[in-house]
Amino acid sequence: MDHRRAEKLMRLEVLNTGSELLLGSVLNTHLRIFSEALFPLGLRIARQVAVPDGLPIREALAETFGRADIVLITGGLGPTTDDITRDIVTDLLGLRMEHDEEIWRQIQERFARRSLKMSPRNKLQALRPPEATVLWNPHGTAPGLYLPAFAEKNSPHLFLLPGPPRELQPMVENHVVPILSRLLPPQPEVEMRVWRTAGLGESLVEEMVGEPLLALGAELGYCARPGEVDVRIIGTPEQVRRAGEIIEAKLGPRLVSQDQRSLEKVIVDRLTARGETLTIAESCSGGAIANRITNVPGASAVFLAGYVTYANEAKTRALGVDAALIREHGAVSEPVARAMAEGARAASGASFALSTTGIAGPDGGTPEKPVGTVFVGLASAHAATRVEKLFFPTDRERFKQLVSQTALDLLRQALA
Ligand code: ATP
Ligand code: MG
Repeated sequence: MDHRRAEKLMRLEVLNTGSELLLGSVLNTHLRIFSEALFPLGLRIARQVAVPDGLPIREALAETFGRADIVLITGGLGPTTDDITRDIVTDLLGLRMEHDEEIWRQIQERFARRSLKMSPRNKLQALRPPEATVLWNPHGTAPGLYLPAFAEKNSPHLFLLPGPPRELQPMVENHVVPILSRLLPPQPEVEMRVWRTAGLGESLVEEMVGEPLLALGAELGYCARPGEVDVRIIGTPEQVRRAGEIIEAKLGPRLVSQDQRSLEKVIVDRLTARGETLTIAESCSGGAIANRITNVPGASAVFLAGYVTYANEAKTRALGVDAALIREHGAVSEPVARAMAEGARAASGASFALSTTGIAGPDGGTPEKPVGTVFVGLASAHAATRVEKLFFPTDRERFKQLVSQTALDLLRQALA
């Protein structure tokens, strides 16, 4: 049995409610929470719909009857007038709400503990149809509810879950997953693995590995971001293992990670393991590389200093770049990138130093050095300084992403 058949056995849909989602003021983060918890059960989300508060919830939910086996509904369990998910579900199933003394006791306790004043509306949160199983919510007032499928009503298994992600996540782990694992027939073992590559375009990656990977019969996907491409395989453990062999043989030196670690995390990990340190001298990337490195927890063990030397005098003063060198070759040049990296290393005492200097545009280009020209340098205790010349004619933000990606990948290769 492969996972496509398993999917047919149980069709799962997600219904996110909340006008704020459709207004764009809140980013929908629930899919990630669900996918991460449900994938190990062999469950995939077949469809996700977001609707504003109120009656559209009823319409969207009614549509899932007869089509879905499981529906996860989020939001609208609170005490305010727009929180009507519970009423809609109960009404649609033709059930009746009853006051639940235990829920009511817990709500009161929660308010007392925090010395908060209750509103009469809070009592509404203690209502539930007696057919529902209560999913306790230690992180908020509104408990979740589980309603089993009613064959005569063609209704799916329904989970009513809270909107705030910090309430939703533990409820999914502690209640939804255990209930679903009891419902599901034994699932085939399915694995997902993501190989991250750097420095190759999406179509080139596909050209290099696409055909042999498709021949494995597993599910294959690509995800491209500036300067990096992920190859994702979902299949049996054997298919994933064979995919790994193909990918390593064809993309070996381009592989950043096989466990979804970011490029900067891989670098911090490798430097930490080697007991070595890093400094960064940036001009055109404006601190973007230092920003990425310092986003990694534990970066302080390896990152000594970042210099954003935008002006020529700053390159001279902070990094000791010879003013005559800048006059002769220009700030955007191979010799200056080299001097910046070596100067930063000398100033900080780090084992590795990266440098960037380039023309982000839209102004400042010349026929010899058009907008998008950039030099990236790497100095280290282990090898002669390397400088690469690249060309990224694009907008400033993407230019900085591509420069930081290139510089970090240069360092990754040196640490391989
Ligand atoms: P409460 O008891 O806090 O009112 P609730 O179950 O009624 O919870 P909502 O009122 O729908 O949930 O949402 C509460 C908050 O949760 C929203 O303001 C929003 O910040 C967050 N939230 C809701 N849905 C999502 C979502 N899909 N992704 C991320 N955040 C969400
Ligand atoms: Mg609410």
